[in-house]
Amino acid sequence: MRRKMAAGNWKMNGSSAALSVISDLAAAHADNTDTDIVICPPAPLLFRASEIARSSAVTIGAQDCHSETAGAFTGDIAAPMIADAGATHVIVGHSERRDAYRESNSDVRAKAKAAWEAGLVAILCIGESAEDREADNTLDIIAGQLSGSVPNGSTGDNLVVAYEPVWAIGTGAVATTAQIDEVHDFIRARLVQRFGEEVGNAIRLLYGGSVKPGNAAEIFQCDNVDGALVGGASLKAQDFTPIIKALIAS
Ligand code: PEP
Repeated sequence: MRRKMAAGNWKMNGSSAALSVISDLAAAHADNTDTDIVICPPAPLLFRASEIARSSAVTIGAQDCHSETAGAFTGDIAAPMIADAGATHVIVGHSERRDAYRESNSDVRAKAKAAWEAGLVAILCIGESAEDREADNTLDIIAGQLSGSVPNGSTGDNLVVAYEPVWAIGTGAVATTAQIDEVHDFIRARLVQRFGEEVGNAIRLLYGGSVKPGNAAEIFQCDNVDGALVGGASLKAQDFTPIIKALIAS
């Protein structure tokens, strides 16, 4: 039985005033024991967010890390620094970073390994562009991202895979449950083929892309969906809470 996960990616949004969202979520889900709730705020908020979330149902993640542990990488953040700030997770390979910063599959793989070495869980994002889907290349793209980005040594404890069709991120366009089922079943089969039944079935799969209170319950009906990676709707507790409740109820 895989634990469910609701992860919120604040992207480059939120100030110290937004940290009340974390205490509001912690209060709203104080009795939750079977679902991981992870908030990924911008890096300057990681330490304070971790202090606020301490001993609550909420845990904290970063949105990216460097593959090296230290050095002359101005502006970057190393995985041990994220752990030192009190966070437990890190998103790697988000499509915005693959696109805007030209991150390759091997960059993402190195970041996931760096995350593990620092004791962090990697939430590794994959997903096809609109052009890939229109050209009927979705499963080939997903297969390539899985083999190129997911490191050997992955387990259900150190890796979460987030399927985020690029055309659904921040656009209001949501994949249909048939599309989600097709890709998530494919990812599951590939993970089982590569890592064996036990590990392949233990790695959690999140769907991401315009998940909102109104569509969450339907998405969580999909067999191989263990939760969601949520952008815009994770910025307000009143939007994220119904999504988390739909996940707990699924
Ligand atoms: C994301 O940033 O990973 C995301 C899924 O964003 P949104 O929920 O806003 O589409």
